[in-house]
Amino acid sequence: MPARIPVTILGATGTVGQKFVRLLDEHPWFEVASVAASEQSAGRRYSEVVRWREPTPIPERVAAMTVQRSTPGLPGRIAFSAIEAEIAGDVEQAFARAGVFVVTNTRTHRMDPFVPLLVPEVNAGHLDLLPRQQIERGWSGGIVANPNCSTAGLVLALAPLHNAFIIEKLFVATMQAVSGAGYPGVASLDALGNVIPYIGGEEEKIEKESRKILEGTFSVSAHTNRVPVVDGHLEVVSVGFGRRVKPAEAIAAIEAFRAPEEVAALPSTPIRPVEYDPRPDRPQSRLDLERGGGMTVTVGRVRPCNLLDLRMVVLSHNTIRGAAGAAMQNAELLVQRGFVR
Ligand code: NAP
Repeated sequence: MPARIPVTILGATGTVGQKFVRLLDEHPWFEVASVAASEQSAGRRYSEVVRWREPTPIPERVAAMTVQRSTPGLPGRIAFSAIEAEIAGDVEQAFARAGVFVVTNTRTHRMDPFVPLLVPEVNAGHLDLLPRQQIERGWSGGIVANPNCSTAGLVLALAPLHNAFIIEKLFVATMQAVSGAGYPGVASLDALGNVIPYIGGEEEKIEKESRKILEGTFSVSAHTNRVPVVDGHLEVVSVGFGRRVKPAEAIAAIEAFRAPEEVAALPSTPIRPVEYDPRPDRPQSRLDLERGGGMTVTVGRVRPCNLLDLRMVVLSHNTIRGAAGAAMQNAELLVQRGFVR
């Protein structure tokens, strides 16, 4: 087997960082060469500082690593970023300037017109922005982003419909898992037996990011809620098109949707990026989340809508399709396109 490409994880101790550590352990192309986090964790063993919350033990090699400061000079030309959004701007730019390709989960650069906001099955062509970004910013590396966790599932469910019928109006109400807030995130006394009808900044993110990815001009009304579920964002969606679209047409478009050839060849791309489930009470967070290794988005209950044209339910894994898995797939696309060898 050829040598794997060394990569660094920034924010390796957090919720998404841990998911990176676990998923990258068995990755066929990438090997974790260093882990970094805040000043408080730097200089200490990973296993000592991390509050490990993944269902399998910490991979031994990573457990023994010393956590590094989040400054350039770490091994590899790819850095996965899962750091606190407030400080991500300067850190990610410093790495890009130093020749590293930063594949980020943070919101900081997503709406930058020179930063590709990628869901490879939907808009792999947006990676063409990267050479322009490098020229514009004078960077030998670059920054590529994945959308926020609720947008990631939503745009995959909508892409087949937008491609076929052109979306004009979109209503979405989310029921988002607590893991989306990081660790320790929402206090248990707030989360348990409760629904919190506010997630700061999330509605604006859905509204802007979905249009950037789908290159749409549709109007969006998003409502976001935190619910007492560990993993998995469930979203109820109504969509309006330029013409009346029958449920059967929409289901056919969803079922026919496949990744483009170069994206289908990536290790993290599931065979079915979007799956339609005809059962009346599906998808459900606990039962349908792990499809396609957490990278498949499940759509159900496609039916006529009395306000717009169609309504449906969408489920996606927020820390895999909405974070670590998405970033791994973006990094694979960077390799496939020859940005990193
Ligand atoms: P988290 O659990 O709170 O982890 C935050 C990470 O950032 C930790 O590793 C922390 O290191 C590190 N960090 C904090 N301050 C730092 C500093 N000054 N310098 C360097 N590193 C610092 O958060 P998370 O949920 O994993 O989210 C990480 C990022 O991904 C956020 O920007 C978030 O918005 C985004 N995101 C999260 C999800 C999700 O589902 N959770 C989905 C999509 C995107 P220490 O342990 O040393 O403090």
